[in-house]
Amino acid sequence: MARVAIVTGGTRGIGHAISVALKNAGYRVAANYAGNDEAAQKFQAETGIPVYKWDVGDFEGCEKGLAEVTAALGPIDVVVNNAGITRDAMLHKMTKEQWDQVIRTDLDCCFNMSRPVIDSMRARKFGRIVNISSINGRKGQMGQSNYSAAKAGMHGFTKALAYEGARKGITVNTVAPGYINTEMVAAVPKEVLDTQIIPQIPVARLGEAEEIARAVVFLASDDAGFITGACLDVNGGHYIAL
Ligand code: NDP
Repeated sequence: MARVAIVTGGTRGIGHAISVALKNAGYRVAANYAGNDEAAQKFQAETGIPVYKWDVGDFEGCEKGLAEVTAALGPIDVVVNNAGITRDAMLHKMTKEQWDQVIRTDLDCCFNMSRPVIDSMRARKFGRIVNISSINGRKGQMGQSNYSAAKAGMHGFTKALAYEGARKGITVNTVAPGYINTEMVAAVPKEVLDTQIIPQIPVARLGEAEEIARAVVFLASDDAGFITGACLDVNGGHYIAL
């Protein structure tokens, strides 16, 4: 029986590519999203992947949504925590709301999406949790104290849960993308991209969403069963950390 995967923020950008790549690899995939119904319906029509709307920052919403996915597709084997937002500002201009929104979406999602499925993964002795972090959670980024903190927090969560899941066949890893050609990066002014960001990337280009998706498919596979608590940097050499 094909394994079941849920991809948060799976209808647009990097998540779109991850959902499609997992489907092409033989998984039964569900794609979650937050509010852009038009994009979600278009995605479902084009890919045939069912979409589910809930807020990953809301624990009860995650419990309910994951129960719906389980009822429709079966017990969840793979969770990809991809949904994420930015609310950039220098700390001296950042509002409490900007801080809270990013921590709630980008970090709380780890607990909210893992807690409801972990008992079932432990009982079935198999699970894959892949958390999509960011280069800016690895190295920090000016104007992103909220986002860098949330994404760095994902790494702590990943390492701790990796220990807990190891004897139960559950691996927990992060993928840390560099700058990828999506709407999130399209919000960065072209001049900033051309003069400040791309010159810092050794491969001299933005990454493609499919390049992140291939890393996720690998970490979800049986071939990656000995990899846990790891971070896979997919950033064109932009930040090389060992
Ligand atoms: P996009 O903004 O293109 O897509 C975000 C997706 O997440 C959408 O499907 C959106 O749903 C969903 N989403 C946002 N908030 C929530 C929420 N509260 N609950 C459920 N779903 C939500 O993002 P990207 O594809 O660019 O980024 C994907 C991930 O990769 C993020 O975690 C991001 O931080 C990370 N990343 C991206 C990089 C890049 O260069 N793009 C670089 C490094 C990391 P809806 O369509 O309904 O709005």
